[in-house]
Amino acid sequence: MADKEIQPCVRCAKLPGEKDAYCTDCGAPLVNRCIDEPGILKKGCGCVNPPTAAYCHKCGEPTTFNFHGLVTPAYQNANKPFFFS
Ligand SMILES: [Zn+2]
Ligand SMILES: [Zn+2]
Repeated sequence: MADKEIQPCVRCAKLPGEKDAYCTDCGAPLVNRCIDEPGILKKGCGCVNPPTAAYCHKCGEPTTFNFHGLVTPAYQNANKPFFFS
């Protein structure tokens, strides 16, 4: 896994540590994962998406960047994160 690039924080552009999952300056998630995390009762998706993706390319659920307001869906009536429904 030597080819894993470190992306700067999408919100404040801080360069995170190699194993950081969240920005230590502003708390933004650093990996744009599918919001459908695998859990005890469900298989989930947890797919990693490009930083610009508002929705998971695999299952259509919102991404963490979308959920935290870091990317805006292009369509107003696009799928809302299920937490808000
Ligand atoms: Zn940040
Ligand atoms: Zn997904």
